[in-house]
Amino acid sequence: FARNPGEKEFHQAVSEVFEALDPVVDRHPEYVEAGILHRLCEPERQIIFRVPWVDDQGVVQVNRGFRVEFNSALGPYKGGIRFHPSVYLGIVKFLGFEQIFKNSLTGMPIGGAKGGSDFNPSGRSDGEIMRFCQSFMTELWRHVGEHTDVPAGDIGVGAREIGYMFGQYKRLTNRFEAGVLTGKGLTWGGSLVRKEATGYGTVMFTDAMLRTRGESMDGQKVLVSGSGNVAIYAAEKAMALGAKVITASDSSGYVVDENGLDLDLLKQVKEVERGRISEYAERRGNGAHFVEGGYVWEVPGTVALPCATQNELGNKAAGMLIKNGVKAVAEGANMPCTEKATHTFLDAGVLFGPGKAANAGGVATSALEMQQNAQRDSWDFDYTRERLEQIMHSIHDRCVETADSYGAPGNYVAGANIAGFIKVADAMLAQGIV
Ligand code: NDP
Repeated sequence: FARNPGEKEFHQAVSEVFEALDPVVDRHPEYVEAGILHRLCEPERQIIFRVPWVDDQGVVQVNRGFRVEFNSALGPYKGGIRFHPSVYLGIVKFLGFEQIFKNSLTGMPIGGAKGGSDFNPSGRSDGEIMRFCQSFMTELWRHVGEHTDVPAGDIGVGAREIGYMFGQYKRLTNRFEAGVLTGKGLTWGGSLVRKEATGYGTVMFTDAMLRTRGESMDGQKVLVSGSGNVAIYAAEKAMALGAKVITASDSSGYVVDENGLDLDLLKQVKEVERGRISEYAERRGNGAHFVEGGYVWEVPGTVALPCATQNELGNKAAGMLIKNGVKAVAEGANMPCTEKATHTFLDAGVLFGPGKAANAGGVATSALEMQQNAQRDSWDFDYTRERLEQIMHSIHDRCVETADSYGAPGNYVAGANIAGFIKVADAMLAQGIV
């Protein structure tokens, strides 16, 4: 803690993983002797840089850029880039640390990293976004590459931003190196299903958890928070599996739509017009209404999918969800549940899918995009979706088996942390003290 002052989200992420590792350390003293835990907490490399750009008024703006290359034991660094005013080193490090274990769980050959900037894309013109992305890549290009570090999107970074960054990388290097970024456009190296993958994967994982208790997504009343990439496609998959999704939100409030979300309208408002969730409620009619401020968790539902941001679901909200009869909670976002809320769900016997397992479908499909780029091939939608489904089921089963074998049956938090850790730790042992 003294070594990383003020990085509270990073402390929270490390503390959750280490709590789960107690029984592993007892069984494997060799990990401690080789300093694996200490080494894991120290990123292999951290890059912090100036991002100067000129806004539409001709005023020079300066933001801060980050890339934390955390661990390369299993493959090239891999993880998204976030543009949001809340970004600082502690956020990037928590996300990068989580990414190590998530990427390990996917079974794909990828290490862990994360990056971002405190740039706020909200209200910025397309030209401003492009100039910012170009300036960001003007420093980042020298640190990334298909065999070194492969960034992707996250909050505030979607296909548009990846396009501008890729264009600048190509211009600076004079190489069409498709595998340097994932989440690309479909006509120039992107993969089908990547856009849908995180949300779809989260619901596939939730369905698998429910099936261990003889239930499924069919007939569930689902609460989704957020209305970005993960939230929209979690809602789409939940509906496809027979559930009714009745909420969505953004940082200004949430909508309740008891008749079930109109996904076409939601996509039009959020993806095409880049509007606010309140506009969805205004145009939907049909009893849908917008609640300013507050959290979706006050609405009764049987499945909760937090898909917005870290620490959006606290202990009070967890208590409310349990009182209202929630059966399963799966983290579409990274660390959306506080540590206390997580414990409250586990203690109450609610099925709980931690983000590093439940939302791993996004990065897994990014790794499938890298495979297609390496083969100069593109796979069809159904084949890619089936690969995603196999990966999510295998992550689910690995969590269950690992939790069982370490004396914590049904605890997906323990299962995910332990299974993710062991693979990385064994690779680090094999590669010596580096
Ligand atoms: P988007 O930018 O597409 O959407 C983010 C959504 O969350 C928006 O509705 C946004 O509302 C809301 N939000 C963001 N910050 C806050 C905040 N501080 N308070 C309240 N609401 C907020 O991002 P994604 O959907 O891609 O990412 C969502 C989460 O999923 C993140 O935790 C991300 O790390 C995680 N994730 C994403 C993956 C991906 O493939 N995209 C992969 C794995 C995890 P507003 O517009 O008002 O800010």
